[in-house]
Amino acid sequence: MTKYIFVTGGVVSSVGKGITVASIGTLLKSRGIAVSVQKLDPYLNVDPGNMSPYQHGEVFVTEDGAETDLDVGNYERFIDINLTALSDITSGQIYSAVIAHDRRGDFSGTIQVIPHVTGEIKERFKKLAADSGADVVLVEVGGTVGDIECQPFLEAIRQMRNDVGRDNVLYIHVTLLPYIASTKELKTKPVQHSVNELRRMGIQPDVIACRADYPISDSIRDKISLFCDVERQAVIPLTTVSSVYEVPLVLEKEGLGDLVVQRLGLGATAPELSNWHHIASRSCNYEQSVSVAVVGKYVELEDAYYSVRESLCHAGLYHNRKIAISWIQSESLKSRSDIEAKLRSAQGIVVPGGFGIRGVEGMIRTANYARENKIPYLGLSLGMQVMLIEFSRFVLQSDKPHSTEFDLETPYPVVQLLPEQRTADGLGSVMRLGNYACHIQPDTQAARAYGDGTNIVLERHRHRYEVNNDYRRQLGDAGLVFSGLSPDGRLVEICELHDHPWMVGCQFHPEFRSRPNRPHPLFNGFIGAAKDVLRDGSQPALPLNS
Ligand code: GLN
Repeated sequence: MTKYIFVTGGVVSSVGKGITVASIGTLLKSRGIAVSVQKLDPYLNVDPGNMSPYQHGEVFVTEDGAETDLDVGNYERFIDINLTALSDITSGQIYSAVIAHDRRGDFSGTIQVIPHVTGEIKERFKKLAADSGADVVLVEVGGTVGDIECQPFLEAIRQMRNDVGRDNVLYIHVTLLPYIASTKELKTKPVQHSVNELRRMGIQPDVIACRADYPISDSIRDKISLFCDVERQAVIPLTTVSSVYEVPLVLEKEGLGDLVVQRLGLGATAPELSNWHHIASRSCNYEQSVSVAVVGKYVELEDAYYSVRESLCHAGLYHNRKIAISWIQSESLKSRSDIEAKLRSAQGIVVPGGFGIRGVEGMIRTANYARENKIPYLGLSLGMQVMLIEFSRFVLQSDKPHSTEFDLETPYPVVQLLPEQRTADGLGSVMRLGNYACHIQPDTQAARAYGDGTNIVLERHRHRYEVNNDYRRQLGDAGLVFSGLSPDGRLVEICELHDHPWMVGCQFHPEFRSRPNRPHPLFNGFIGAAKDVLRDGSQPALPLNS
């Protein structure tokens, strides 16, 4: 029978709950236990697809094309599993399902939060358990205990204790110990209050994980244990670490892996964490760095490019280089001199994905700069389209080539919607989401990055527009190589410049597939090319002092 671990958050949001859940999954998997994970998002949107990245951060796309919370990306990266739409449940999905049941006449009588809404939530837990065949399903309740939106989720996880038996359920509360600088002490009162709030919902936590920016003393652990009625060994200190990839090792050292196994009565092997020790020791001991400029439109919020940042770090792990990222607002790149000033020290440039026209001309200037100066460039979805638009402007000797997303009247629509992507009413367009196959053309940068002999790869998509095939021959004759194509050859998946050390763009998002132990080949290829580039202020041959 599947067992469940429910993780709640207290005191404040962004306390590291997602990373904690992902790390617990890692510890269990390292003991030979099959896990799956689910995030419960309290908002009423059906998914985060239409939210601004400024509000929500990155939208992470799963293989089956679900647009999900960025925590799902952390689960995939840490546990090294591929999840599906079932791993991100929103209140919007739950309420729409309940209302659909009502319209079909599936219920009789009044429809209520308990039992109908809570019942629908529990169905999702059980469905994931059944579909994944996992020994343990980890469920993260989004938001903070006490939020009005969380209540049906908390009630549902409370009911699960009786539904599946208390030996099959574990409640973990992740909370913050704030530090008061004037008295130099960590305060436990907010933890006590959030545990009280949880108890008001009928849930007594089994484990309390305490995030703090300063070391947590034994006396503080004792106090939390006493006041919150949790065993001393189940008060887990989680002091801030320099890299999130150290968190599994911190939790293991504090005994959380064994504690969970013992409390849930799981059959487990000894933990196999050598990979994680390797990652943690590498990421603390870099001797050299690579400076990478990420030129995008949502750069004020790094979370908007969460997987891009992580994928760069994964490739850094592989090449044994610290990645120094500078985040550059593409809108600020209005002229050649802006570019020269801001990109002067970049050894590599990434133009990530995006929607809407703001900042696009700055990205096109960036691609122009990377092409002319032979700076390694990686274009991700919009970043590939921008690279193609720039090259078309150069080849056609005109500033008119564009994507019809940004200029419907352009005489040279080099990127456009395909007829089959228009909705039936002709007004909207359908997004290409999730895994699609890509054939790699031999003897290209892409083929070398993926490994010679790789013919076909599956990559995750989230876009509407495609390269216009009418321009393929002309651009190809001028030196653009279409190095990845859909199996029928109609869609350009990867393109690259022939006469350039590394200028590669892909229509898909490779960042959703990169893992710390298995960096994505295109990120690896990009950092491999960037690490040897000498720029202003960069000294790749010299060790760093730190
Ligand atoms: N806006 C572009 C499109 O829809 C690119 C999307 C993206 O970067 N994910 O095709």
